[in-house]
Amino acid sequence: MNDQPSPGAVRDLDAATELARRALPLFGIAPDARLTFIKQRENVVFRVDDGDRPYALRVHRHGHRSLAQMSCEVRHAVALRAAGVPVSQFVEPVAGGDGTVADADGTRHLIDVQHWVAGAEPFGDTLAAWHGEPGPSPERFHALGEIVGGMHAASRQIGRIPGFERDAWHEDGLAGATPVWGDATRLATRADDRQVLAEAISGIRRELAALGRDDDVYGVIHADTTPENVLVDGDEITLIDFDDFGEGYWLFDLATMLFWYVRHPEYPAFRKALLEGYTAQVETPTRALDALDTLILARATTYLGWAADRPGDETSEFLEAEVLPVVVELARSYLDRSGADAAAPDADAALLERRGATIGPYSPLFYNRPLHFVSGDGVWLTDVHGERYLDAYNNVPSVGHANPRVADAISAQLHKLNVHTRYLSEPIVDYAEALLGTFGETLDRVYFTNSGSESNELALRIARHRTGATGILVTDFSYHGNTISLAQLTTGLEVSEPFGEHVRTLHVPDLDTPTAGDDETLLAEALAGADTAIAELQAAGHGVCALLIDSSFSTEGLPRLPEGYLEGLVARVRAAGGLIIADEVQAGLGRLGDDWWGHDAVGITPDFATLGKPLGNGFPIGGVVTTAELLESFSPSNMYFNTFAGTPAAAAAGHSTLLEVEERGLVGKAGDLGRYVGDRLGDLASRHDRVLASKGRGLFFGLSLVDAEGRPDGALAKEVVESLVRERILISKIGPFDSVLKIRPPLVIERPELDTVIDALDRALTTSAAAGGR
Ligand code: PMP
Repeated sequence: MNDQPSPGAVRDLDAATELARRALPLFGIAPDARLTFIKQRENVVFRVDDGDRPYALRVHRHGHRSLAQMSCEVRHAVALRAAGVPVSQFVEPVAGGDGTVADADGTRHLIDVQHWVAGAEPFGDTLAAWHGEPGPSPERFHALGEIVGGMHAASRQIGRIPGFERDAWHEDGLAGATPVWGDATRLATRADDRQVLAEAISGIRRELAALGRDDDVYGVIHADTTPENVLVDGDEITLIDFDDFGEGYWLFDLATMLFWYVRHPEYPAFRKALLEGYTAQVETPTRALDALDTLILARATTYLGWAADRPGDETSEFLEAEVLPVVVELARSYLDRSGADAAAPDADAALLERRGATIGPYSPLFYNRPLHFVSGDGVWLTDVHGERYLDAYNNVPSVGHANPRVADAISAQLHKLNVHTRYLSEPIVDYAEALLGTFGETLDRVYFTNSGSESNELALRIARHRTGATGILVTDFSYHGNTISLAQLTTGLEVSEPFGEHVRTLHVPDLDTPTAGDDETLLAEALAGADTAIAELQAAGHGVCALLIDSSFSTEGLPRLPEGYLEGLVARVRAAGGLIIADEVQAGLGRLGDDWWGHDAVGITPDFATLGKPLGNGFPIGGVVTTAELLESFSPSNMYFNTFAGTPAAAAAGHSTLLEVEERGLVGKAGDLGRYVGDRLGDLASRHDRVLASKGRGLFFGLSLVDAEGRPDGALAKEVVESLVRERILISKIGPFDSVLKIRPPLVIERPELDTVIDALDRALTTSAAAGGR
């Protein structure tokens, strides 16, 4: 592979040469010894000739390793050598030295020196191996197997030397969310290749997790036993370059060598000989041997991850052009072998069956392959196979999955007392005061409920009582809950209840619709539609009871409203005697940024704010916040009691969630992050033909996708959602055509995580459009 410095690195090379020269006396070498450049990778390597004594001197790339890491590498190699393993011999710094040398700016650089392995040649050549050129004999592989086996036997005795500090090549280091050498899937430009790699990596991770880390399968390994890192002189074999050493599966050291020969015509003979040599030295359990091919594939993916981080590098180009297609094929046959791409692993298939037989097959599940989560932490979810997912979808755990403050508050209350509201109880009053403190002056009373549906049902009931009218206005693609009266006004999903005669729909104008006229025309048409609906309700004798709208218009697909629309709508409803219900189930508790409640964010003052989802961070709690006047009108003649609502445990959930939002400044942060996201999404919209517009505000945002003819493209949105889940990122889609990506992470998400989501969207849009040409 490429051992020459690239032109851009020459200045570094000059600096490295200068450092190397200054380091010589620190290792007892004559300052005028001859320095010859050998290679440059993570380190710059020189050969040093001091009289007739040759050395190899490495100047470590600044920041690549810490002094502790380097010294641990040296001490491990010294311990192996003391145990009789043929590894290169390090030269100790002279007294007082620690292997660091300062440059002109005073920055200290790490340097180490080893005795040159005289007369030796590399075991093989990576490129020649890959291209199937004649290589070492099977006997050589056998001998190498013995040496590696001997090294592992010694390593097992040595274990982790004191001060051990290295990356680990375990299931996470190889195939977790952030592998040691980066995520391999980034190197693939084709969507189907990325998918194959992602699925194979998931399979590898599962398999290695199942293999475990017992002493007979896992320990301190070399981790970079490439053909170049084994030197041969006659019958003598020496292992060099422990730069990547750390804990890992023992057979990873064989996998590293075998990977480079995997397409070689003599591969079967090489593999057999290497394994025979190895197992003659160390007893190796069958389950470890069975995982060898998986480790070879795991090794292969590490090179892809490495190359993805070094675009433009000559070796990266070789890896992308020649190695990537072979690795994709290896991954494909791995999936075929393991059945990892079957509809669901056995355990999940059994659970699906039990689920169907109990709660029924119609209870919806996300994704082509349902996900099965077992734990959460902040914006991260972990599935039953140990895979971590970035949650950019769930708004209920607004202060993070498994938030300890909320969990502790609920638990402490449950350990003390939990009764309904017919006894005096402080927690619910404390919470009510805190909650009402986040609303405008007029909204100063609250009824507690257990869900968004209950909240809307109650608000409608109060509105009906107060106005004496029954007519309701909703939008033509909306959802407000699952009770009978809400099913009768549901327009955004399928229900069998006939649409209520007392309900009229409004079409919410969206300035991003390609066919939309100018802003004024759109506004005028929309308000004229409201006038017609109101007139119809009055003519039919229903009158106008309420306008029920989601402050974010989420189900509708986050339309961009013409200025004056909401004010005009609210004024018309009020003029007809109706009340305004702002459904805050989606938009509330800071979701839209800068304001606690969506109606404040969009500039209207409702008579009711109905709350649900995020209020208790997952504990079922909702509410109807209204005016004292409406409470006084309804409650004297309607005793409202709700067994579970407002219990001390519910109050603990609600209050601790509110305090988390407040104390962590999440409302303002959602505004700031939303503006940042808006800029990035705007950039995506300008670069991708299929993105019609960036949608939303605060931490409720998305992209509206269209096909080549500019029509809403729900299929593309589905493809992007599936593509992201393969990258272990959760999002969804909304809108009348399911063509708007729906991104609504817990409010505790940070900017780098948002970047991860947006970068993945960028890739998915590139590959989906390129792959399907759709
Ligand atoms: N209103 C809106 C806007 C919603 O999105 C939902 C739930 N998706 C509800 C009401 C109903 O809430 P719940 O499921 O808690 O009954």
